Amino acid sequence: MADENIEYFEIFPWDNNFETGIELIDEQHKQLVNILNRLAAHLANRSNPITLNKIFDELADYADYHFKAEEEIWSAHFMNDDWFTSHERTHESFIAKVIEMKQEENVKPLDDVIQDIVAFLSHWLASHILDTDKRMAKTVLAIKSGLSLEQAKIRANEEMSGSMRVLIETVLSMYDSLSGRTMDLMREKSLRKQAEAALLASEQRWQFILEDTGENVWDWDIEHGDITFSDNKSSLFDVTGAHPDETGEVPTIHPSDIKMVREALQNHLDGNTEFFTSKHRVLHKSGSWSWVLTRGKIVSRNENGEALRMVGTHSDVTERELAGLLFQHSSQPMFVTDKDNAIISCNPAFTTMSGYSLDDIVGKNPGFLASDKHDKTFYQDMWDSITTQGEWNGEIWNKRKNGEIYPQYLHINTVSSSDATVDHYIALCSDITEQKLVEAKLVEAKEYAEQANQAKSQFLSQMSHELRTPLHAILGFAQLLNIDKNKNLNQAQKKGINQILKGGWHLLDLVQDLLDLSLIESNKMELHTESIDVIERINDCLDTIEPLAQKRGIVVYNKLSPCGKIYVRGDPVRLKQVLINLLSNAVKYNKEDGTITVCCEQMQTGSVRISITDTGSGIPEADLDIIFDPFNRRYMHRREMVGTGLGLSITKQLVELMQGRMGVTSKFGKGSTFWIELDSSKPPVKDIQGTITPGVEATELVSATLLYIEDSPSHVQLLETIIDDMPGLRLLSAHTPLLGLEMAQAHNPDLIILDICLPEMDGLEVLKRLQSNEITNKTPVIAVSANALQNDIEKGLRAGFRRYLSKPINVIEFRRVVEKLLRDRASY
Ligand code: ADP
Repeated sequence: MADENIEYFEIFPWDNNFETGIELIDEQHKQLVNILNRLAAHLANRSNPITLNKIFDELADYADYHFKAEEEIWSAHFMNDDWFTSHERTHESFIAKVIEMKQEENVKPLDDVIQDIVAFLSHWLASHILDTDKRMAKTVLAIKSGLSLEQAKIRANEEMSGSMRVLIETVLSMYDSLSGRTMDLMREKSLRKQAEAALLASEQRWQFILEDTGENVWDWDIEHGDITFSDNKSSLFDVTGAHPDETGEVPTIHPSDIKMVREALQNHLDGNTEFFTSKHRVLHKSGSWSWVLTRGKIVSRNENGEALRMVGTHSDVTERELAGLLFQHSSQPMFVTDKDNAIISCNPAFTTMSGYSLDDIVGKNPGFLASDKHDKTFYQDMWDSITTQGEWNGEIWNKRKNGEIYPQYLHINTVSSSDATVDHYIALCSDITEQKLVEAKLVEAKEYAEQANQAKSQFLSQMSHELRTPLHAILGFAQLLNIDKNKNLNQAQKKGINQILKGGWHLLDLVQDLLDLSLIESNKMELHTESIDVIERINDCLDTIEPLAQKRGIVVYNKLSPCGKIYVRGDPVRLKQVLINLLSNAVKYNKEDGTITVCCEQMQTGSVRISITDTGSGIPEADLDIIFDPFNRRYMHRREMVGTGLGLSITKQLVELMQGRMGVTSKFGKGSTFWIELDSSKPPVKDIQGTITPGVEATELVSATLLYIEDSPSHVQLLETIIDDMPGLRLLSAHTPLLGLEMAQAHNPDLIILDICLPEMDGLEVLKRLQSNEITNKTPVIAVSANALQNDIEKGLRAGFRRYLSKPINVIEFRRVVEKLLRDRASY
């Protein structure tokens, strides 16, 4: 041990009285005293034997050196005087004594040997310096002042007697007792310090252990009722359930556990158990119940065997306990494997699900649960995921103990230790048999719904056809009566005809709307998206609507940008349907002499907004979001207004199908603004002409023969009546396709009108044959059909019909179409 590490003190403080007057000797004495003090300090501080021996050797060497130096001085002045020889013998006896004392090391601890040596040395040195050396030095100094040896010895004796003698005796006895006591005190102090350090180290060790384990130590003085706890932060619990914790509150043992704790404690106090052990719930300061594990042992009893003191530990095992509860009581089946994937445990939910008991599966690889429903790759992929991502989850078919194969949703997790090596695998399983059945039923139900939907669509299209067919006759003849040039009808009859027409067209609207709705709902509405000149399209619609508006004195303000074109992406036919619907509503729900304002603006978002504002009665705010629901016709007072309640619903869905948005703002009593937004687009590469745009100008009649191939006599009759009114035209009719083809060959008519739904051969096939015959291949053919779906119309036009008119026809439009085609043909 280095000197700086010890508490230094002087067993032998240097005093001027020790000075002999010979400088060399005094210096050496000081050095000797210094080494002696160091040896004593190391001894008191319980330095190790190596250090002690080292300092002792240093002291012995220096003493030898000093004795020689001293003897040299003395011999120069004393020669063979007996003072010199006796002094020399003192040195020799000193060395002999120290050697003898040191040898006691064999029988005594080194500390004790050194202590004896230090005590002897300090006494010897004090007396030797103060008495012998000082006397010799005084003699030398006297000789040096001119006295003879004898005279000098006498002077020295004189100076060393009397008061000097008293002083020497006093100093000597003082040093004797002082050095002894100092030494004892210092050794005691050092021992205490070492014991304290050892105690502190031990406490720190315990503290560390306790902190690490989360355990709290308690010490119960049963006799006096005191209990102390280790200074551990988890000190929240009490063994007896009635001791205030660090917050000053009294933790309480759960009422259901008190009896059990008391019994366990009493059993130990009575000496029936070696340890007191209890796992119970105590009230945590958060207000919830925590689990604590308490272990204790009585460490002292009185002569009557009564317990006086008990020590023990308690620890918070809430987490462990909860984990256990969770595992045992969870309805989720689970099992845990070790790192080699051997099952360690499973919970009751797992045994219920699989049919295997814990004993059946412990130690086994979970592979034994597998069914043969999966191939090797499935399991390979599973393990790839577990190894690379630490987990796998998915559906798996496993086998129960009874052999039943069942579907599971399995989630495998890895539990790794701090060095990232896998310790455990945890498998959470769910029996999804029920879910699978429900899923299968859902799929079945979906298929059924789809089939039903399909059937509904078929029914609707069938119904549309079936309704259009009689409506064709009803509306056709009613239109003819309405046109009645000879004015044969009286007012009441005209009114009746009007009612027939109104009801008939409404029925047609309803049929058309229902068809559209069913197409949208069954995702069968096919859109032909292209770039549309939106201004042109709106103007087109305004042309259609304006006559209706005028009838009610409504003024239409066209606020469309006069210059430039705006293009949107959409289906032109459907966009027209949307606009016509909004415009006709704006007329229908407007007040007499109101206004309609149509705007079209390019939005910053890149879309185009078309808004139609009317001055009608508006819509109450609460109804704004339901007017788009199908069949919703809120306003009972408007019952007289013709409408299906489907228009807005279809309109909105059509706009959305065109990737657009639609909305409304309205002020009840003031009017509404319906708007749609569609994505703007670039102008089309080539201008696509509307294939079914009417617009046939009335013209002078030409003389021509028409052939009508139609199986329905009433429809033939209707057409005959229509044609009757067109001078110069002759109508031939054929009620079967084959007859029609023959007649076409025989009469080479100027125009053929063809029904599509014909017996034996459909209209498209008839057209094909007409086209492949050199007599008829140039003859224009019009379709007049109750197959009125957009698809049917497009298909017909593609096949080569010049026009496709759906039943029921608009008589005026029909006549114009016929006239135009005949005129065109005549101009060849
Ligand atoms: P229909 O007009 O055939 O009843 P719609 O679906 O077109 O069906 O409209 C649904 C309802 O919304 C209408 O019955 C009407 O009450 C209301 N509505 C539609 N447009 C307007 C409008 N411009 N002003 C006031 N109410 C309107």
